[in-house]
Amino acid sequence: MPVAFEHMTQTYRGRFAPSPTGPLHFGSLVAALASWLDARANNGEWLVRIEDIDPPRVVAESDKYILNSLEAHAFVWNEPVSYQSQRHDLYKEALDQLGAQTRTYHCRCTRADIAAMGGTYDGRCKNAALADDIPHSVRFAVDKSARWEDLIQGPTELGKAGVQGDFVLFRRDQVYSYQLAVAVDDWQQDITHVIRGYDLFDSTARQLMLLNALDINTARYGHVPMALGSDGHKLSKQNQAEPLDGKNASRNLVAALQFLGQETAEDLENAGPSEVLDFAVQNWNIDKVPEQQSIRVC
Ligand code: GLU
Repeated sequence: MPVAFEHMTQTYRGRFAPSPTGPLHFGSLVAALASWLDARANNGEWLVRIEDIDPPRVVAESDKYILNSLEAHAFVWNEPVSYQSQRHDLYKEALDQLGAQTRTYHCRCTRADIAAMGGTYDGRCKNAALADDIPHSVRFAVDKSARWEDLIQGPTELGKAGVQGDFVLFRRDQVYSYQLAVAVDDWQQDITHVIRGYDLFDSTARQLMLLNALDINTARYGHVPMALGSDGHKLSKQNQAEPLDGKNASRNLVAALQFLGQETAEDLENAGPSEVLDFAVQNWNIDKVPEQQSIRVC
């Protein structure tokens, strides 16, 4: 049964979806701020979802640090924070539905096998019909390319090569994949606009492929540039990027606004963080966000 219209809503609903793998850093602030501003400037709602789908990567208590840090920067969210670890039933349902549509298959290849293929999965298990008792992951069989009008980067089309081949929905260690969980959550939470970092650009194609296969109305997507450190790598919690200091919230917000190409005002960093956000929402112009994949920040 097509489920496309069950979750349709007219209200703008945005979200910020950090993984609890460490404290927030400047790159996460940029994503939080851009999604918050676009939501508020469109009289929309803004949700926070903790993406604790991958137990080995979760750092205990980091969800609390993340939420405190968001509060220190004066962000307010509209609904209780959701946790992916509590939503497995929804992921299972979607996985079963895709399986029933014969859009998935079992794959026994390891990371090392895929590295030996040059990083793009070549689909070798697709017709192998592996027995259930052989350790395996479950992959999505990509057919059509994904197309979207990116709110920042413009018209985009990514096909099978652009997503590095058929991708995993359920890992051999029995963990639902990030791609499946995020696609299902954005759908089930009625998210209408996903504004996030360019590091997730390919992931958008994967998530759209899944949602299209499930016949779901999809959100609009916009990708802001990634913040790179002095070594040219993306700032990330895993690279021990410097944690945001809540005591410098206004200064951090002004730096994030500048990164996003937005107007600031003299002495804005001496105002309180909620005043900075008020100023920013009144002046938010998504067309000024640089159409770049990344920007070096230090
Ligand atoms: N959880 C992802 C991260 O922290 C972001 C997911 C998303 O915005 O879709 O990188």
